[in-house]
Amino acid sequence: MSEEIFDLIVIGAGPGGYVAAIRAAQLGMKVAVVEKRETMGGVCLNEGCIPSKALLDTSELFHLAKDRFAGHGIEVAPPAINVGKMMARKDDVVRKLTDGVAFLFKKNKVQTFIGEAKLLGANQQGDQQVQVSGAAAATITGKKVLLASGSEAVQLPSLPFDGESVVSARETLCFPEVPGHLLVVGGGYIGLELGSVWLRLGAQVTVVEMLPRLVAGSDGQVADGLMRALKKQGMRFMMEAKVAGAEKRDGKLVAKVEAQGGVQEIECDKVLVAVGRRPLTEGLGVEGLGIRLERGRVVVDADYQTSVPGIYAIGDLIAGPMLAHKASDEGVVCVERMQGEPSEVDYACIPGICYTWPEAASVGKTEETLKEQGISYKSGKFNFMGNGRAKCMDETEGFVKILAESEGGRVLGVHILGPRASDLIAEAVTVMSFGGSAEDIALTVHAHPTLSEAVREAALDVDKRAIHA
Ligand code: FAD
Repeated sequence: MSEEIFDLIVIGAGPGGYVAAIRAAQLGMKVAVVEKRETMGGVCLNEGCIPSKALLDTSELFHLAKDRFAGHGIEVAPPAINVGKMMARKDDVVRKLTDGVAFLFKKNKVQTFIGEAKLLGANQQGDQQVQVSGAAAATITGKKVLLASGSEAVQLPSLPFDGESVVSARETLCFPEVPGHLLVVGGGYIGLELGSVWLRLGAQVTVVEMLPRLVAGSDGQVADGLMRALKKQGMRFMMEAKVAGAEKRDGKLVAKVEAQGGVQEIECDKVLVAVGRRPLTEGLGVEGLGIRLERGRVVVDADYQTSVPGIYAIGDLIAGPMLAHKASDEGVVCVERMQGEPSEVDYACIPGICYTWPEAASVGKTEETLKEQGISYKSGKFNFMGNGRAKCMDETEGFVKILAESEGGRVLGVHILGPRASDLIAEAVTVMSFGGSAEDIALTVHAHPTLSEAVREAALDVDKRAIHA
């Protein structure tokens, strides 16, 4: 057993845990991180946000070269995709970033333990003990423990993962070749992003979604516009349908889909099950200590402290959207509050993005929610068709929509479908974080010609004075 007593032991080096560990070290704490993977960065860096965006970027370039260059007068031979090289580049991006986190740990004197952590409870002095199993087995002691063990893909009982044909996002990010037909179960952001990657590279992609709309909880106009755009690209959709199972028949995979018109059998090569993620508490020892869970998620108070004093939790493990930036912000706020700082996460201003093309980005309340909650609002909308830069880029699909309070014009929600919506949403998040109004956006000078002018025009349209509408 190590004699050392850490101020903080962080379990999990994902975007929640690693950011919390570095911030805690900056604040003067002696920090240990226990991570069961060999590499740092969690799901986000290893098998989530980063590898998916690396493949989205490659497949977008491929699509541009294949289908869009000609429109710009660029004449090239039809491109071919080298999947092996594409994957090697993606792995290189991941390696550089995961190594970067390991470097930051060293720089900030965060001690890393590779192995699986299990909570053993408090010793007589009231310090928390954590068992680390694996090659470097140890028991370490800390004044506080922060749980940041994240989440894992939900498995459907009717479609168990086999790592080969019926797979999760993890395997879909590593296919050795373009599948002939990829059946995607779940029309959320993971299914649509990974479906887009393989669609652009030549696969037939069919998305089966139980609900009548894509990306549950998103603004209706954005969801409808996104579906139209993806359909135009060749993605097929079976809405209000369910995959009841899949079996191998003569070397092909046959999925049974229960749709409105009855049961259909669909031949495919791979099934990606992307129906959500669940918190990963298995093996952590939370039940043994009586840490309170609600629907599988660890319950925390405003300080991110669990029902057991001295044990904290953040990220995918607790309530709220399962997003990397939410996990990181909670990590920072949690350790700052441990030091008595009055930090807070502004949960009303957490952006959510679907990195398809066009991208869908949103923050705040949707029009549907405002109606449900009986909040009086006015709305402004501007189509990228009227934006000069979008025309230059030949990317005129989509719009910016701003929802503002009827009285005073405070921005309540912004929903963007369009080119680089992921970057454009940042302005909306900033304005909303400061309690700003549509008028604040309208009064701000936006450089010309930029896509951001569409945000300003939507703000002007809240009071029906957009110039280029
Ligand atoms: P995680 O990243 O899950 O990290 C938890 C870490 O804890 C893991 O490394 C795990 O090995 C470790 N661990 C677990 N149990 C133990 C234990 N007992 N002992 C030691 N270590 C343990 N979010 C975005 O914001 N933007 C995106 O574009 C985006 N794209 C995504 C794409 C895909 C395909 C997927 C799957 C997810 C994506 N996400 C995205 C979600 C994002 O990855 C998660 O919300 C985020 O990683 C959660 O961070 P976390 O720190 O809570 O946990």
